[in-house]
Amino acid sequence: MSISRRSFVAGSAIALLGGKARAAAGPETPPAARRRAGLDPWLEVEAAALEHNARTVARLAGGRPVFAVTKNNAYGCGISIVGPVLDRLDTIRGFGVVRAEEARQLRGAGVKKPVLLMGPFADDEVDELVRADVRLAPGSASDAPRLTALARRIGRPIAVHLYVDSGMHRMGMPHEQVLQWLDEPGLRNAIRIEGAFTELTEDQEFDRQQVARLSGVAGAARAKGLSLGLLHAASSDAVARPTPESFLDAIRPGLALYGGYVTPEAMARAELRPAYRLKARVIRVDRLGAGEGVSYHRRYTARQAEWTATLAIGHVDGYPTGAVRGCEVLVRGRLCPVVGTVSASHTVVALGAEASAQVGDEATLVGPDRPELHPNVVAQRSGWSEYNMFMHLNPGLARQLI
Ligand SMILES: *Cc1c(COP(=O)(O)O)cnc(C)c1O
Repeated sequence: MSISRRSFVAGSAIALLGGKARAAAGPETPPAARRRAGLDPWLEVEAAALEHNARTVARLAGGRPVFAVTKNNAYGCGISIVGPVLDRLDTIRGFGVVRAEEARQLRGAGVKKPVLLMGPFADDEVDELVRADVRLAPGSASDAPRLTALARRIGRPIAVHLYVDSGMHRMGMPHEQVLQWLDEPGLRNAIRIEGAFTELTEDQEFDRQQVARLSGVAGAARAKGLSLGLLHAASSDAVARPTPESFLDAIRPGLALYGGYVTPEAMARAELRPAYRLKARVIRVDRLGAGEGVSYHRRYTARQAEWTATLAIGHVDGYPTGAVRGCEVLVRGRLCPVVGTVSASHTVVALGAEASAQVGDEATLVGPDRPELHPNVVAQRSGWSEYNMFMHLNPGLARQLI
């Protein structure tokens, strides 16, 4: 069943009023026309939050252009939803992905700005990627003869950002070898260098050295009459800390765009807004007698009679198993603790002495509405990394742009 965007937006506007407004108005079931159909869990992605975060990170980086990293389904938020929202913002210069398929998904979603593939590319897909105007990131010695041959075959130069390894030792060309690499016969006519970038180790002292190495390579190239274009290094960590010396010509954040903080200090400094809400419906309301337990191993037993609600969402959806260690869920404007065990497809919350929820009610497990639901807080309480809160959102969840 499909729901019109309009009816969905109306429904979520009520949720956006926040718990207080709803609690004051008393429990109510949203009118049928406003309800999202079905009982499956879903993800709301907020365009205004993405825009706010993009502006915020650009401001923190002194107005530098932003390459928005949209790997792994745009940090779980849905690459075909997020891509077009970011594409129309002035602060966004382009996109960064790590897999060829992600570049295709952006183009498939109608994204027009430059897309940089910061990962490997195979000979048999280069034609297609170049036709789709995807920038490649050569980072190994063998890429020079490969690109030279490929450009000859395609009949035009291939746009690239050089991937420079300044000390991470994971990907890219060792910085001492870049100039020599550029001397490969025929290469300079085969590629059009738009930029050069490196990945920082996020070790503050060493980051400075890494930035100096990248700048050093660009300076040496310039001395030989060759421009390496835009230099970029900073991810969310460098932007949020902030470390201005790493901002160079552009920044390349991922997590911060979606509202996640790399560190608690960053959280205090920047006002980012979680870009998604993880939501589910109440599918069962139950009364626990004193001494009765919930779910596998009966890890939680009621001291006195109380009510619980079963939510149709579990760890397969990206909600952490460890949520039982103190996470809360918003149901009808009240925060309810997770009890028992988060299983594959079910999560149980304690409602208290009253049966204060009904089958069909919306529950918000993660989102911007309360500090307790912030992905960083849920990560901290459940013992997960903040990246997992984004990266493990099930790609099969329905996603709705609001
Ligand atoms: C993931 C990634 C980023 C963004 O990192 P965040 O910590 O999410 O900001 C930047 N550059 C590269 C090469 C990446 O793989």
